[in-house]
Amino acid sequence: MAKKFQNYVDGKWVDAISGKTFENRNPANWDEVVGTFPKSGKDDVEVAIRAARRAFEEWRLVPAPKRGDILKKVGDLMVEKKEELAKQMTREMGKVLAETRGDVQEGIDTAYYAASEGRRLFGHTVPSELPNKFNMAMRVPIGVAGIITPWNFPMAIPTWKIFPALVCGNTVVFKPASDTPATATALVEILAEAGVPPGVVNIVHGGGGEVGNAIVGHDEVDLVSFTGSTMVGKKISEMASATLKRVSLELGGKNAQMVMPDANMELALDGVLWGAFGTTGQRCTATSRLLLHEKIHDTFVAELVKRVEALKLGDGLKPGIDVGPCVNESQQQTVQSYVDIGLQQGAKVVAGGRIPKDGDLARGWFYRPTVFTGVQPDHRIAKEEIFGPVLSVIKFRTLEEGIRILNDTIYGLSSSLYTTNINDAYTAIRDIKAGITYINAPTIGAEAHMPFGGVKQTGNGHREGGWTVYDFFSEWKTVYVDYSGGLQRAQIDNYQD
Ligand code: NAP
Repeated sequence: MAKKFQNYVDGKWVDAISGKTFENRNPANWDEVVGTFPKSGKDDVEVAIRAARRAFEEWRLVPAPKRGDILKKVGDLMVEKKEELAKQMTREMGKVLAETRGDVQEGIDTAYYAASEGRRLFGHTVPSELPNKFNMAMRVPIGVAGIITPWNFPMAIPTWKIFPALVCGNTVVFKPASDTPATATALVEILAEAGVPPGVVNIVHGGGGEVGNAIVGHDEVDLVSFTGSTMVGKKISEMASATLKRVSLELGGKNAQMVMPDANMELALDGVLWGAFGTTGQRCTATSRLLLHEKIHDTFVAELVKRVEALKLGDGLKPGIDVGPCVNESQQQTVQSYVDIGLQQGAKVVAGGRIPKDGDLARGWFYRPTVFTGVQPDHRIAKEEIFGPVLSVIKFRTLEEGIRILNDTIYGLSSSLYTTNINDAYTAIRDIKAGITYINAPTIGAEAHMPFGGVKQTGNGHREGGWTVYDFFSEWKTVYVDYSGGLQRAQIDNYQD
């Protein structure tokens, strides 16, 4: 019998008001049901938002270092449960165990960072232009935060949002992706166990169209932090503009690794293999394009194909597996449709390019790691996000041309250049239009204490991670204290007095 999961609202575990449920299955073996979850609607969201609004009035007054202490406990509990959390995550979304352990570890790092931030949350004191007057700017909590997350980092991404939201004194209504509700529930269980008071964090399971929309459109939600596709991000931005709420959007990518002829080829091969096929290519920072200098193109591709064909596909819980399944059937079909489009537009498949039908693989949403050569910069597989194990190889002649091709997409998340020439490295750092640039490292591999996010249609200018996310989750209050005992006028030309 499949495990039954519930919503967590106002400190209580509850079913959807309608009593409806949905099922989640293991993408490596669709016979296995991970659990059943409440299929919530607008009414469930309403109750959760009301609880979060009430809880805010007390939570905002808890000293930030005390809020941080709870997050320290959250980190400790995640350390204790790391293996169990990682295994459950692999069962529910497919990436291999080493990667799901990494996903949980990122949550742990984010918890400890947030805990210590409770003792910083620095403001500014600034000299006044008038005598006997004190000026300061300090951070204050905002209110109820709506948190909507994708399935590809089901622990790390919610922690990037929920932990800073809480340290800053906000309360949370959390809607996780329908493909990863079990990991999200485990996170909320940990928050409750660590001592987060009732109503401060609420989780409401259900579809994006119902639960997600109800959160974004609600007057009593003050800010929304969303990670997901650019298409949904645009809808959220439009909907949230009706109430002018603050919105942080972390969206799609079409990331490229560029390799110059002077690069360390072994390093560049290792980099692209990991960047393109780690997490089955389902990272927002995945290497989706490989830009090869014409001088090394043919030899690099020949070596790459050997390595791609050697990647072991299978259930991520089993040892020795390099690549897990796509998250669901629709994602597998999207990958197949892009492979068809690539072929129709004249590119050539040199590895993979098909759904495997052999053995256990036939019972999951697998796709063979795929490499296309002969891709032109205007092909759709060179421009559109595929979000699967497909790499498009494009040839270039000069650094300038390579950077031009790299920049020629609507996205701007991650990028990478392999070179041993310091001048080329710094030119690329200056000219690449992306939120993240790696030199001699793959496009994936963010560290929790560094700003994370993209430019162009990858987002709307906010950053997660590190110190920058605290700007999103807090409001600046400017304070003037005049202790002169008289009326002192600013915004008057005092220089004439
Ligand atoms: P998605 O389809 O946009 O869904 C993301 C979340 O939004 C899910 O919780 C989804 O709920 C919800 N949602 C769907 N429609 C909604 C609506 N109309 N209103 C409110 N919420 C709605 O994206 P995904 O397939 O989960 O994730 C893959 C995408 O995320 C890729 O484009 C990837 O690049 C991007 N991503 C970006 C970053 C980054 O930091 N830039 C990181 C990771 C992933 P349901 O699951 O119930 O549909």
